[in-house]
Amino acid sequence: ATAVIAVDGPSGSGKSSVSRGVARELGLRYLDTGAMYRAITWAVLRDGVPASDPAAVASAACSASLEWSTDPDESWIRVDGVDVSRAIREQSVTSAVSAVAAVPEVRALLVDLQRGAVRSALAVEQGIVVEGRDIGAVVLPDADLKVWLVADPGVRAARRAAEDAAAGRAHVTSSESIAADLARRDAADASRAASPTTQAEDAVVVDATHLGLAEVVAAVVGLARE
Ligand code: C5P
Repeated sequence: ATAVIAVDGPSGSGKSSVSRGVARELGLRYLDTGAMYRAITWAVLRDGVPASDPAAVASAACSASLEWSTDPDESWIRVDGVDVSRAIREQSVTSAVSAVAAVPEVRALLVDLQRGAVRSALAVEQGIVVEGRDIGAVVLPDADLKVWLVADPGVRAARRAAEDAAAGRAHVTSSESIAADLARRDAADASRAASPTTQAEDAVVVDATHLGLAEVVAAVVGLARE
């Protein structure tokens, strides 16, 4: 059985729902690394640090203490004891996260925590699905399965709008503005030097454009069982 599965790809490809679904189906833990970058960004904003000041961001990041759940049925993340699971989805965090995630010290800190979470899971004989942007290429080059999940931007934007509506996030209303936001964030993520969104050479590309969630989960589960 596959023990460590990396799921990477651009924002809005449905990585979170797919990763969670695969973890449930295979009885694995689940780690959302985007939530970790968002939680650090929340701490940076809480401290009144401008996301554009890398040295100040690095020091705010290093003094924040993160705790998180790896239960795919009960996701939460805390910063210094405060549950920020909802707050990290707010627009202020979403707007600042690419800049924060570009700071090398932030990446070094979180990559260490991510590798530690995988070691902890494996130590109790639990496999894990790790979702992010650089997991297969950088964080876990020895993952048993690397999935590169893609979907057409228009379909992605519509999906994100539906998710926002379902979650009661009313502040973003049109799928056009969501598409623009996703495109801006992907461009920022892809162009930065520190660790761009990177497809591992040995990743399997899964195109979710014309598939429902259950079908994508089944496809990844199938790959994991190969
Ligand atoms: O996946 P999500 O949209 O929550 O990720 C938020 C942001 O965190 C991304 O836009 C990216 O800037 C950053 N990120 C990253 N590396 C990862 C996961 C997320 O830089 N492994």
